[in-house]
Amino acid sequence: HPVIVAIDGPSGTGKSSTSKAVAARLGMGYLDTGAQYRAITWWMLSNGVDVNDPAAVAAVAGKPEIVSGTDPLAPTITVDGTDVAGPIRTAEVTGAVSAVSAVPAVRTRITELQRGIAAGAPAGIVVEGRDIGTTVLPGADVKIFLTADPEARAARRSGELRGTAPGAPDLAATREALIKRDAADSGRTTSPLAKADDATELDTTELTLEQVISWVIGVVED
Ligand code: C5P
Repeated sequence: HPVIVAIDGPSGTGKSSTSKAVAARLGMGYLDTGAQYRAITWWMLSNGVDVNDPAAVAAVAGKPEIVSGTDPLAPTITVDGTDVAGPIRTAEVTGAVSAVSAVPAVRTRITELQRGIAAGAPAGIVVEGRDIGTTVLPGADVKIFLTADPEARAARRSGELRGTAPGAPDLAATREALIKRDAADSGRTTSPLAKADDATELDTTELTLEQVISWVIGVVED
């Protein structure tokens, strides 16, 4: 059967860059599940839904149609046919995504989408997120959990933001926001950010992206 690789971990560990590169080199599909949670969050904000009201979020969780393109060289994400790849990366969405993702109706909806995409990937797929190995695809062939020191993660995130957003927040602000988001993601009751018991963990603090990619490919091909 097509191989399924689950890559979980907090932000700033190199998860996205690694997952995309591994999928591209192995000829597999790629799914960024964080982008799906960001997309539903973007839709909530765009439609005036109070993201801090779980009942209000749950009531409309089934409304937006979210479609993910799984080519690792050109991943796409649309909401009701609109390309939202840019808008889902704003600080506003990043600040609201943990609250929206904690709503069980949102997780049920997005988890179903993810399972459908994985089941329909003919060449296999690399799925990156927070709860893929534990909840979304507990039967994945390979499970990897990436970690890194908060300092290293903040530095990477800050570098990424400076590359894309003019007037991006400084390192201290990025570090604070990242730690707050990881705490919320780890602390929620429904499928929190967590390492599966059978996942292989790698601390990427001292590693280059290329080293992490090679290590993951080694684990997949093992
Ligand atoms: O990976 P990224 O930082 O884009 O994820 C954005 C947010 O989406 C996370 O902070 C988390 O709240 C949520 N998320 C989640 N479960 C996943 C992937 C992301 O709850 N599998």
